[in-house]
Amino acid sequence: VERAVLLRYHEIALKGANRGWFEERLAINARRLIERKVGKDTALEVARERGRVIIAGVEWTDAVRDALEHVFGVTSFSPMRTVPTDKQALKDAAIEELKRRLAEPGRPAPRTFRIFTRRSDKALPETSMELDREIGSAVQAAAPHLAVDLEDPELTIGIELHHESSYLWTEKIPGPGGLPVGTNGHLLCLLSGGLDSPVAAIQLLKRGAATSFLHFYGAPFVGAEVLEKVEDLARIVGRFQPEPRPLYVVPFGKIQEKIALATNPKLRTVIYRRMMFRIASALAREIEAQALVTGESLGQVASQTIENIATIDAVASLPVFRPLIGFDKDEIIDLARGWGTFETAIRPGVDCCTLFADRHPSLRTSEMSVEEQEKLFPVDELVREALASVERRRL
Ligand code: ATP
Ligand code: MG
Repeated sequence: VERAVLLRYHEIALKGANRGWFEERLAINARRLIERKVGKDTALEVARERGRVIIAGVEWTDAVRDALEHVFGVTSFSPMRTVPTDKQALKDAAIEELKRRLAEPGRPAPRTFRIFTRRSDKALPETSMELDREIGSAVQAAAPHLAVDLEDPELTIGIELHHESSYLWTEKIPGPGGLPVGTNGHLLCLLSGGLDSPVAAIQLLKRGAATSFLHFYGAPFVGAEVLEKVEDLARIVGRFQPEPRPLYVVPFGKIQEKIALATNPKLRTVIYRRMMFRIASALAREIEAQALVTGESLGQVASQTIENIATIDAVASLPVFRPLIGFDKDEIIDLARGWGTFETAIRPGVDCCTLFADRHPSLRTSEMSVEEQEKLFPVDELVREALASVERRRL
């Protein structure tokens, strides 16, 4: 069985003075995400070597594969078996792997192959190319119908040479790409329970930002199924980060009711969202998040016109990241399916933004008109109340 995994990443993104730090973060994240899946394992060892991360002492299972598919920064990975650093042993192992691969049911047999050796030091006297050729000839002698193809082989047998024992791989599984989580700060994602916001959160986790979550809960005007759904979504998104981060829940239904009783229905949605941004900005400062994230997309709904986004943005005291601003719904749906949030996001559960909302909300609000309305209810007091009643949930 395979007892090691090779992780590859884009070296270009990690060049320069920070490289060691990025690599270390990647290695730590991989270890934590594996341990979260399979439990703590003292045999597990993570080493950084020449632009690669090698995890040793881990048994290759679907759970490990799933964990690694959630490690941002990883472009691809390969399960590996350990082989003594000895030419004959390497040849035997390469042939064995080839035979195993040829015997695998339901997969077309490869017709072309290559050996791809990398060596960390002078573990063997030969150069990588000499070894490729020598081990390649041995493999070909054992399977004469196979042709060598160095450009685009159907099977690559990879060898990572080390002093005492070396590693051999034949599979290359795509990773999620991006940058290791924790290399780009900490964000607070406004998570609604819809399709867009979980995707927005994951797109920025992909750029290396750790994410906490905030939900404005419309109870008693929306049911508990909404909160359950939001928690489930936060958990799915949370699988991409090595440290679990909480979901903050702000009771928002009563606030919305007060706003609805006092204000012009056509401006309500924008006013709710300004309240959300005020509360979110204050909470972000408290928990040391550096920016807010939303799932908005230009023109998708009435509150997402340029004018309304500007009116809403005006009260945020931190940068607001909207990674989906230029995406179509279809594209967002594809992303949601890819990241695994789709099925949960489409579960029934109405968002609180639609509470007491007008059927034809104003598409072009101005700050002035909204500020007039905000004189009709105690904005600061409601923000303070909301912050005082925030509930922190561990996921
Ligand atoms: P989503 O699919 O994420 O629900 P949406 O297309 O329904 O987005 P809106 O309902 O206008 O659009 O919400 C825009 C964004 O505002 C959401 O993506 C989310 O980031 C934030 N948001 C909306 N409602 C809530 C809520 N109840 N709690 C937290 N954030 C919210
Ligand atoms: Mg929504």
